[in-house]
Amino acid sequence: MSAREYDVVIVGAGFAGMYLLYRVRRLGMSVRVLEQGSDVGGTWYWNRYPGARCDVESMQYSYQFDDDLQQEWHWPERYSAQPDILKYAQHVADRFDLRKDIDFEMRLASARFDEESAIWTLKADDDKVTNARFFVMATGCLSAPNWPKIEGLKSFTGPTYHTALWPHEKVDFSSQRVAVIGTGSSAIQSIPHIAREAAHLTVFQRTPNYAIPAHNRDMDTELEKEIKAHYTTMRARAKTTPGGLDVAYNQGSIHDATPDERDSAFERNWQRGGLGFMSAFGDLMMDQSANDIAAEFVRNKIRERVKDPQTAENLCPRNVIGAKRLCVDIDYYETFNRDNIELVDVGAEPIEQITSEGVRAHGRLYEVDTLVIATGFDAMTGALTRVDIRGRDDASLAERWKDGPSTYLGLAMHEFPNLFTVTGPGSPSVFSNMLPTIEQHVDWIADCLGHAKSQGYATVEAEADAEQDWWAHCQELGNIGLKTMTDSWYVGANVSGKARVFLPYFGGIPAYFKKCEDVVENGYEGFAFR
Ligand code: NAP
Repeated sequence: MSAREYDVVIVGAGFAGMYLLYRVRRLGMSVRVLEQGSDVGGTWYWNRYPGARCDVESMQYSYQFDDDLQQEWHWPERYSAQPDILKYAQHVADRFDLRKDIDFEMRLASARFDEESAIWTLKADDDKVTNARFFVMATGCLSAPNWPKIEGLKSFTGPTYHTALWPHEKVDFSSQRVAVIGTGSSAIQSIPHIAREAAHLTVFQRTPNYAIPAHNRDMDTELEKEIKAHYTTMRARAKTTPGGLDVAYNQGSIHDATPDERDSAFERNWQRGGLGFMSAFGDLMMDQSANDIAAEFVRNKIRERVKDPQTAENLCPRNVIGAKRLCVDIDYYETFNRDNIELVDVGAEPIEQITSEGVRAHGRLYEVDTLVIATGFDAMTGALTRVDIRGRDDASLAERWKDGPSTYLGLAMHEFPNLFTVTGPGSPSVFSNMLPTIEQHVDWIADCLGHAKSQGYATVEAEADAEQDWWAHCQELGNIGLKTMTDSWYVGANVSGKARVFLPYFGGIPAYFKKCEDVVENGYEGFAFR
């Protein structure tokens, strides 16, 4: 059977893959998308756990490439729930007739570059082969599930669910004794829902997290009208902020504020809710004493919200606030006031074992009927290294990244010609509003493909020096301030055996976008076309 051939093959039909498909079609290039799931939506297709919701406000977490689309779509809530975001992705797929160019239920297993023909041979799990001139991994930053290394995990006889691989049908927790392992964003969102339904819930917490209330509510239709009337201005303003979010940032130092001014700045952000909490002062992520004040403010809020003082103290994080991505919660702390929930601290003494009947910790067996694993992702690199990608001279990406990744702009790698990554390591990605950042990456990649096509180039490849310089710059920025002082998935510390390297770019959206523009203006500086 001869292999199918396309100018461009995109892996992943999440928001990145969908928009790239739309853009590549317009270049008049043949294109195919390979998607592991049975429909579009990426992260919002897989993460269906109860309570899954975006931590960026709906009016900002949406595409802006098509004004009719952004004008016609109505988000029902301030922060969108997973089913609504999935509905939006499906609407986009229908509106632009995207599905006809997508192979669903096709997982890419390997990709090999042949230097002579300058063609990538992509092999799926079922051995189906697709050939491509250009190949784009649009596989997401938080998409490769991380399973904890706990002895006996497979021996549990009841149902086991990973939040990132949640079943499509509703999971019924009623009259169940449930254990949740993990207290990151996914757990913080799902725990209130599970506790409301289950007979009993035991939460195994290794490290408490800082959660800021979402203050979610129905969409304010007047605000929606106002934003839609000035959408372009709002989107442009968002691009001037470090996180690409239309949020007011105070650049001033907390040390120039009186205690009352500090409290009211934090209180204002607390009442507004969400990820913008750390925008209260400019030095919260630079100076430990500034950070301590913000952290204590949140701890005091936890103490107010949780009735039992010991449970409240156990829920209070002691690490740097903001060094892990903040969580955005709805009723998380109040859930610990219920009488059917128990918090088990496994910070100092890890879970000993999972048995057929439950979870063993502190020498005691917690018997449960259902296990929920909320242990996150092999972030930023996992989705790339889990595919056997071989570039020039059979160079293995996974092997090359054994001691940590390196990329040029988070977009491309030396020795891997014609391969692009969307929001790869070394891009602002997770430090920004993902959807607009995805659009910027896709636009850049599509323009580059168009350039290669119009100039008749067969290959484009990041130059070794450009990659080295960019990666060194990313590491330099990563080491400024307090971001790396806590174990987190930003530094790969959540996956056992993963190299500790700062993965995203922390220079902010304006600097990053400018750099990408400059590269193009300077004749694709740092890229070699052949
Ligand atoms: P996560 O933040 O990595 O949290 C994983 C949790 O599992 C942590 O509490 C971790 O403890 C714990 N854990 C891991 N291994 C363990 C073990 N062996 N024993 C006990 N506990 C263990 O993962 P996540 O909650 O899925 O979130 C990941 C990211 O996805 C978030 O930071 C966010 O960017 C994104 N996300 C966003 C949303 C949203 O939009 N609202 C929702 C969900 C996720 P340690 O902290 O000690 O490692």
